[in-house]
Parts: sequence; C-alpha cells; structure tokens
Amino acid sequence: MTPRDAKTTALITGASAGLGAEFARQLAAQGHNLVLVARDRARLEKTAADLERRYGITAEVLPADLTDDDGVAAVVGRLSAAENPVGVLVNNAGIGLLHNFEQNHIDEEKRHLKLHAETAMELTHAALQGMLKRGSGRIINVASVAAFLPRGTYSAAKAWLLSFSRWANLAYSARGVKVTAVCPGFTHTEFHDRMGMDKSVAPAWTWLTAERVVREGLADNLRGKAVSIPSKRYKALAAAVRVLPDRLVTGPARKAK
Ligand code: NAP
Repeated sequence: MTPRDAKTTALITGASAGLGAEFARQLAAQGHNLVLVARDRARLEKTAADLERRYGITAEVLPADLTDDDGVAAVVGRLSAAENPVGVLVNNAGIGLLHNFEQNHIDEEKRHLKLHAETAMELTHAALQGMLKRGSGRIINVASVAAFLPRGTYSAAKAWLLSFSRWANLAYSARGVKVTAVCPGFTHTEFHDRMGMDKSVAPAWTWLTAERVVREGLADNLRGKAVSIPSKRYKALAAAVRVLPDRLVTGPARKAK
C-alpha cells in the first residue's frame, strides 16, 4: 500500500453483511476510516462499533435503501462532501432474484436493475468529482462471474457493471482513479439464503470465501487492474466461456432467469 492509499475514507454499500462487511473489515485493518451503507441501521452500528474498537478507525453509518431515489441522494450527498472526502468507493450492495424473468413483477426487476447498475453509476459519478480534483481515488464495483454468462437479468446487470468498470478504468486511471470490477463466483455470504436458493446445488469446490474475494479484489484494484476474478478455477471459467458457444456454457442457465 502506498502512503497515498492509507488513511483515507472508504464508503462501502451493502456493508451490513457478506462481501460488504468483509470489505469494511479489510479496509479498516489497512487503516481506512469508513462510511457504512445498507438498509439495516442496527447491523451497521454494530459493525461500525466493532471495527472502531478493533482497528482504531472511525466508522460512520449511513442507512439507505439504494433502490430508492431518496436513499441514493443521501449517499450522493456524503460522496460530495468536502469534509473527510471519500477516497475509496465500493459499490457492492446487491440481491438475487429466485424466479424466472417472466414470473417476476416488473417493478422487482426494475429495482434489481437500479441497484446493480443505475445506483452504482450514480454513486461513481458523484465520487469521481472529488477524486478527479484530488487526482486520486479507488472505485471497486462488485460484479460477478455471471457477467461473462448469458444468465438472465442478473447476468445482464453485472455485464453492464463489468463493461462500465473496464471503460472507466481506461478513462480515469491516467487521472489517478483506479476502477475495478470484482467478479466472484459462488461465495459464502447471505446472498443465496436471502434469495431462497438451495446452496447444495453448487458443489463444494465451486465456493469461495468472502475473505479471499475481497483480499484479491483490493490487491487487483491497487495494481490498477480493471477486472478481478478470484481463484484460478473462475479465471479459467471466464476464459473458456469467451470462446465456447452460449449453448454449451449455459446448459443450466437456459431458463430465462
Ligand atoms: P449478502 O450477504 O446478501 O449482502 C448483501 C448486502 O447488500 C447486505 O449488506 C444488504 O444489506 C445490502 N443490500 C441489499 N439490498 C439493498 C438495498 N436495496 N439498499 C441498500 N443495501 C442493500 O450478499 P453478498 O454475496 O455479500 O453480495 C454482495 C455483492 O456480491 C452483490 O452485488 C452480489 O450480486 C455480488 N456477488 C455475490 C456472489 C455470491 O455468491 N455471494 C457472487 C457473485 C457476486 P441490507 O439488507 O441491510 O440493506
């Protein structure tokens, strides 16, 4: 870590659980102060108090629903503040949808798309203003290995985030802002339980830990990589699906989910 990367403030969305809570822990361990965003205020406050005690940093909580315009505006407000400016933005909050596309209510699909794509774009736009003025910043967008697969609107939204990140890293790295799409495969968090998915459908070897995904994602971002795919097995999968026909790689994904 360069001195410039140390002791800045990191704003993490979806920091109450899973990968977001782990981003908060690892960034706090590296000396960053935190702004923790999610809907569940009580969980954010508990996480903030725990990390302040363990790592001697300062952690603010900012409860917000990021599918809601007022919630997004509150986070944009914090990203635009000149005091304690945010030097690291982690767009991580996300959900999965259990049912097939045509079975979901269109409002649910719209909230899903907003959370993964529109909100991430809006928060990135807000964070960039100060980062470009200061000539330094880090933005991590948590996409998914699903971004490489044709697998319903989740894949489509994550593909948007991946493409956006690849372009943004090219556009802004020369001006001091590193942008990385983190693309994990199955990772042990609350994600699948929350969407009601049976985790046993994926074999044990396919599962990653949040600790590894975040550690590799933060390191790849510091190296200036536009895309971080944790583990050799998922790097191989992402490389293979680029050259194989869709029908072959998406057998179980042909459902319009
Ligand atoms: P998780 O354990 O379920 O955590 C999701 C987080 O997002 C929680 O902190 C949740 O907090 C927050 N969140 C959900 N909806 C929100 C909303 N409307 N507004 C604000 N915050 C919201 O899931 P996770 O696995 O850590 O997911 C993190 C990211 O990783 C997601 O973008 C997901 O798509 C991606 N990902 C996960 C996996 C995996 O296998 N786990 C694989 C690839 C990619 P509140 O409920 O308190 O709001």
